[in-house]
Amino acid sequence: MKDLFAEENRRRLTLKSGKERVVANRHPWIFGGAIARESGPDDAAIADLIDSSGTRVASGLHSLHSQIRLRALTFGAEELTADTIRSRIERSIRRRDPILRNGTSAARLINADGDDLSALVVDRYGDVIVIEIANSGLEKILRVFPSREDGEESPAKHPFGGFLASLGMTRLAYFKNDLPVRKLERLPLEPEVIGQGEPAATIEENGLRFFVDAREGQKTGFFLDQRENRAMTRSLGQGRRVLNLFSYTGAFGVYAAAGGAAAVENVDVSAAAIEGARQNHELNGTTAAFTVADAFAFLRERVAAQRHVDFLICDPPAFAKTRGDVDRAARGYKDINLYALRLLESGGLLMTFSCSGHLSLDLFQKVIFAAALDAGRRVSFVRRLTAGQDHPVSLYCPEGEYLKGFLLEVHD
Ligand code: SAH
Repeated sequence: MKDLFAEENRRRLTLKSGKERVVANRHPWIFGGAIARESGPDDAAIADLIDSSGTRVASGLHSLHSQIRLRALTFGAEELTADTIRSRIERSIRRRDPILRNGTSAARLINADGDDLSALVVDRYGDVIVIEIANSGLEKILRVFPSREDGEESPAKHPFGGFLASLGMTRLAYFKNDLPVRKLERLPLEPEVIGQGEPAATIEENGLRFFVDAREGQKTGFFLDQRENRAMTRSLGQGRRVLNLFSYTGAFGVYAAAGGAAAVENVDVSAAAIEGARQNHELNGTTAAFTVADAFAFLRERVAAQRHVDFLICDPPAFAKTRGDVDRAARGYKDINLYALRLLESGGLLMTFSCSGHLSLDLFQKVIFAAALDAGRRVSFVRRLTAGQDHPVSLYCPEGEYLKGFLLEVHD
């Protein structure tokens, strides 16, 4: 079988002179604009980046069509082999061991650049593993990834066989294949299922149960990044009237109800999401109200009717999908948080998020500031919130830090 890592099968990308800094900073994404010349096979999975003096400065995953021509995995003289990737997969999985105990059966096993495995996301939902691949070189490598049995490396028997074995797959793997970039990468957009049964599972998270369907769901089926923030909701919700806006399948609401909230209402514009929320409350024996509505209109009505709450969770989808969207998105965040703050009783809590990668923490804080000022409320920051530990962010690739949030308290 063709060795995708062999010298003759690699693409050679030569950096423009003056662009050395992109590598010196160890950012893993090398864009087409930084490349002067190239040679070697078009369909190479791996590429080496060479500086103008002919020295190799990085190696990584190749893409012929994407703006990101190279996703660097190693820098300088460090060799890139299948073993490099295997040891990173194994290290990533070991890092999640402390999470996947004590009543939790779902976690992000591999968080792309944050685990030094650019373009690869792997989530575990009990015995279902969901995979997203954003680079054609990586997909080629993983399809024929050597399996390791008793220390021996041999060709995998099935497509993705060696890769799935390295992930410790038990029942089923679901390649979701729905990232928009896959079209650019000329990768299949149809999901691929390997294993038995349905790509769905009832998972446990901090002792609570949730039904996750990888096919229907947003992201890979569940918002694993919010696990630690949800856990906080359980203790904070006690005795409070809780409003869970943009609830999706009601996960925050289930935690609040399990923690003894006085009342919980889940609101989402998607009827399917609300149906999922109903199912999840039922799974946990917790009661709640369920409302299919646009959160903006809903809040305005509740403010007009003065139906106050004591704890509001606001976790909208990314309003800024591109850099150009940031201003419009900022207005959306301002509006929703203004009405959220108006709806809170004195002493009430607001847990508010932005998962727009293009909107900086600094700008999000300014938006909250403007909303609080307009609402005329006295507000303090109780805590800054981020994604959980299984979503590490590479210091060299801050783009990975998309989720930001604040826990706020309204005093008057
Ligand atoms: N907090 C959730 C995840 C929220 S994802 C969790 O922890 O699981 C964002 C949700 O917002 C999606 O379910 C989407 O259907 C919903 N949504 C998008 N636009 C909306 C709108 N205008 N009003 C209400 N819900 C909306």
